[in-house]
Amino acid sequence: MSLADIFDGYIVDLDGVVHLGWEPLPGAVDTLRELSRRGKRVVYLTNEPRYARTSITSRLRGFGLDVAADSVVTSGWAAAIRVAEGGASVYVIGSAELRAEVTRAGGVVLSAADASTADRILVAGHSDFSYAELRAACRAGAAGAELFAANRDATFPMPDGPWPATGAILAAVETALGQSATAVGKPEPAIFRLAQSRLGPLTTVVIGDRPDTDILGGRRAGLPTILVGSAPVTAETRPDHIIADLPGLLARSL
Ligand SMILES: [Mg+2]
Repeated sequence: MSLADIFDGYIVDLDGVVHLGWEPLPGAVDTLRELSRRGKRVVYLTNEPRYARTSITSRLRGFGLDVAADSVVTSGWAAAIRVAEGGASVYVIGSAELRAEVTRAGGVVLSAADASTADRILVAGHSDFSYAELRAACRAGAAGAELFAANRDATFPMPDGPWPATGAILAAVETALGQSATAVGKPEPAIFRLAQSRLGPLTTVVIGDRPDTDILGGRRAGLPTILVGSAPVTAETRPDHIIADLPGLLARSL
């Protein structure tokens, strides 16, 4: 018996599980195709805030996976829905694709020049982060805007080692504003429930490579968890199962 025999719904992390950087990890695509062949349902849940859901769907399709657009949930998209509530005006530290997600969600995205009139600030990692953005967020915060973040991840994995992520930039913003953000992405249980709502009432498991986000969040949402890889765990982040890589789901080891 394998783990894939136990579960019918899969909430699967992307970075470090399905791909690393822009390259699929060995055996990951074949495993996901096999799950699909067996009638299993998969939702991808990523803390990646730089790319729109449509971009991530295209990337996965480029790997040869048959992925529906609504089976991808990102922290950027979930955060965009949250900050856009009520048609709010938002100053965004983040990529052009994230700003477009906020606009699609019904928010009014402000320029840096208008930041002091923002209802909310949204912070997300992106490679063009600048002091000018930090200053604009500072003006928005001083004028009373609420602070939100896509997540608190310090880094994300890349083939040449970890790269700074949203949490690193958020630390600068929180320090400058003297306030703590409401984070939307993993390990917050709400984003797992959002992902689960796309699967329906199936026996669902959370799969990820980060104990502090994937496993902790899955546990908080009351779901069983599988850790991919060998990251150290604590009592709070202990998974139900550990596999070396995604093909481990199909190994007959139970
Ligand atoms: Mg990951």
